[in-house]
This record gives sequence, structure tokens and C-alpha cells, in this order.
Amino acid sequence: MSDVKALRIARLELDDAYDPAVHDNEFRMLSWEEFTSQELDLLPTVLTIGGDGANYDIGFGAMSRVLASDTPIKMLVLDSGAYSNTGGQASTSSFTGQDSDLARFGGAHHGKHEGRKELGLIASFHPHVFACATSTAMHGHFLQSTMRLLEYPAPAVMDVYTPCGGEQGISESSSNARARLAVESRMHPLFIHDPRRGLTLHDWFSLEGNPDIDKTWTTSTLQYLDDAGSVQLMTTPLTPAEFALGEVRFKKQFRRLDPDLESRAVPMHEYVELPRSERGEQIPFVYATDDDRHLIKVACSDSIVALVEDRRRYWQMLQYLSGVHEAQLTALHRSDFEVLKSMYDTAMEQRETSLDDIARAMSELATSSKAPVGSSFGSPTGVPAGATASPSPGSSATAVTDAPVWLDPADIPLCNDCGTCYQELPQFFEKTTMVIDGEARHVAQMIPGAIDTVAMTPDLEKRIERVRKTCDAEIIR
Ligand code: SF4
Repeated sequence: MSDVKALRIARLELDDAYDPAVHDNEFRMLSWEEFTSQELDLLPTVLTIGGDGANYDIGFGAMSRVLASDTPIKMLVLDSGAYSNTGGQASTSSFTGQDSDLARFGGAHHGKHEGRKELGLIASFHPHVFACATSTAMHGHFLQSTMRLLEYPAPAVMDVYTPCGGEQGISESSSNARARLAVESRMHPLFIHDPRRGLTLHDWFSLEGNPDIDKTWTTSTLQYLDDAGSVQLMTTPLTPAEFALGEVRFKKQFRRLDPDLESRAVPMHEYVELPRSERGEQIPFVYATDDDRHLIKVACSDSIVALVEDRRRYWQMLQYLSGVHEAQLTALHRSDFEVLKSMYDTAMEQRETSLDDIARAMSELATSSKAPVGSSFGSPTGVPAGATASPSPGSSATAVTDAPVWLDPADIPLCNDCGTCYQELPQFFEKTTMVIDGEARHVAQMIPGAIDTVAMTPDLEKRIERVRKTCDAEIIR
């Protein structure tokens, strides 16, 4: 504050306009709301760092007060889903079904039975607040969120998914992979709410960085060995149940499916779509592998069903806020238009073929009657009768050399799954699993048909350039 006052006084003095009797009183009441953007840049960034105990629970009221005040304080929330500093008690950011202190799995309750509080979403609905949910495992999204948080001229909150080995029951070395899976399985979707991005709610909310934004679930590929010992791949929807199966905090919610109950088993993603009245004796399950890497089915408890439903509700709310439903309608209209256009093109081709046939018949008639073939007997289409028109080069899919971005299928074995292309350009790239040299590997591939349908924008062109430069394997062209 005093730096800004000194700066203003210095400017006035340079202009020979400083009058202490007038200006000192004015400066006494000066507060940061009256600062220019250059003066605001001189202020040190005030950044608070806390866990979910401090931000979701004990300090939540104070945090809300600051968010409503327009004070440009940045808040970094290390969201581990438990009070990691004090022994791992459940917090309001803990997930349904999680086994933690104060929400133990036992006779009365099967882990935490409430839904999760969404701090980022609540923060978004304070006036003029920047809020985001991110993960350090999604490098591009994390860096972009951090830059926006720091430069935002009003309160800003960044909720970071922070794996805690002890409380979640995972090895430290798997933290990055688990944090990425938390995003992909919709346990902790990415979002950015930035009021500078436009005029409407849909402009402010962005889900970029999540896989398959327009779908409820993305997919994952499971590797297993068949009876002959060969590696096989199975692609299934990736729900929070698949995520939960990999952490000790949810371990008691799963049991291997009894083979006698096989006829009642329903995959989790189908089970949660059934009305409750139709679930009856059905048993939701997820696929996994046993110690010998053979495929098995694992039955899920009611708490895991509640967890999947809670995460689906949250994800669909984010989809709605970001305008995915409108984009889907636009895509539907575009596909209707393409159908109509194709019908029109077919009708025009048939019409021209008929005209060619008439012209050819008239030409043959003139030849057989030895009458001179006048211009009126020429092809009405301009193509000599009997000649075949070359196909339009533009009628086929985009040639590879014209493609705005390209990953040659022959180069895919070189991919090291750094994730840059499918995180930064989900319109063009997707993650997949392939058997390469007898081993199943995660790699990136182009989405079939994407280069023919995605509309280019200046922002997309910039991102393509960035991905070309940062592809770890240098195979994006
Ligand atoms: S950017 Fe390159 S190395 Fe990284 S996932 Fe994509 S293709 Fe693979």
C-alpha cells in the first residue's frame, strides 16, 4: 500500500502538482480497490495454502467471506480427501464409501455415507471469483490453471487433487498415475471457471483436459492373459468403481464375484443406468485381474454404487455448466444438415446422370441418322458424351499432407504416452492400449475422422503448434 502511495506522490511531484493538504488526506483513505492495474501488479501475491480440513471444513466460513470481498487473495487447496495432518479423519471432501477415521467401515455404516462437497463449484458461485479443480498429473492443465490463478485480479481458488499415500492406501510411486486416473474416472474432473472468458455461464466454465467431455464415462483398457497365456485387451467404460478398486480406503467395498451368482452380474456402468425398481437381485461388478493376470469379475457394494452415482451427478452438472448439452444439440443439427446435404448431392448426381444418358442417346440417334452433331447435341453438363468425369479431389477425406495435425500410425510404437497430445488436443487425439512386441502399452492415436470434422480456430492452431513442439517422441506432424 505504502509503495503505491509513494509512487503516486512521486508522479505528482514530477508534475509539480503535489499538494500535501489535498493529497495526503486522499491517500490516507486509499485502498487497493482504487488501484490501477499497473499498481495492482506492484502488490505481492498473497497465497494461502491449506488442506481440505482448513478449506473445506474448519476455515470454510472465513474462506467464503474472503471470496465475497473481492480481495485478490489466491487460495491453493491441497485436497487429499482426509485430514492428513491429524490422523486421516474424514472431511467433507472425502468420497462416499471411503473408510477413514470418523467414517469407518463397520456394522452400522460402510464408510462415509454422505456425498462429497464440491468446494471449487461453491467458490465459482461467489461474485467475480476464479475457481478451478486440477491435478498435478495433468501437467498442461495444472500450469495453465496456476498462471491464470496468479494473474487474476480478484479472489481465486485452486483445488488440487493431492494423493496421500497413507490415507488412501497407495504407494508413493503410484501417486502420479492415481492422480491421473482420478481425473479420467470422473472422481475428480478438471474444470476452470474464469469470469474473464465471456459473458455467459457456459463461457466461464471449461472442461478442457478431461477425456471424452461429451460422454458420461471415458473408457480404459484392461490387459489380461487368456487360457493360452497370450496377452489380451478388453476396453470397458471407466467409472469411479474401477478407480476405487485400486485403493485401500475402498478395499472393504469389493469382493470377488461368486461364480454361482454369475447370471445376476451386471457391469457397473449399466447397473447405475437401471431404475431402482429394476435393480432387484442384480449385482454390479467391475472387471479386474487376479494374481495370475487372469480376468475376473469383482462385485461392488451399495456404497460403491452410491459413489458412482454421486460422481456421475457432479460430472453431469459440470457438463451442463460448460454448455456440453448445447454443443451436443449443435452437433446433432450439424449431422442432420450433413444427411440432408448428402441426399441433395445424390439427387443432383442422379439428375446429371439422366441428362448425360439423354445427351448420349440423342448423339447416337444423330450419328445413326447421319445428321450433323450440333452444339445442341453436346453434353449439357459440359463433359463430352461417354467421357468419365474425374472425381473431385475435395470429395474425399482430407489428404494427409493437408491435415492440420497428423500422427502417422506407423509412428505410434514410438509414443511414450506423455499425454500431451490427448490432453491438449482431445478433439484430435485419444489414449488407447495396443499390444506392441507382445506387450500391452498405452499410446496415443488420432481419432478416426477428426481431421475432417473439427473446425480450426486460431487458438486451436496455436495449441497444435505447441503440441508439435512438445511431443516427447517428436512424432506429431
Ligand atoms: S505427445 Fe507424442 S509421445 Fe506424447 S502421447 Fe502424444 S504422440 Fe505420444
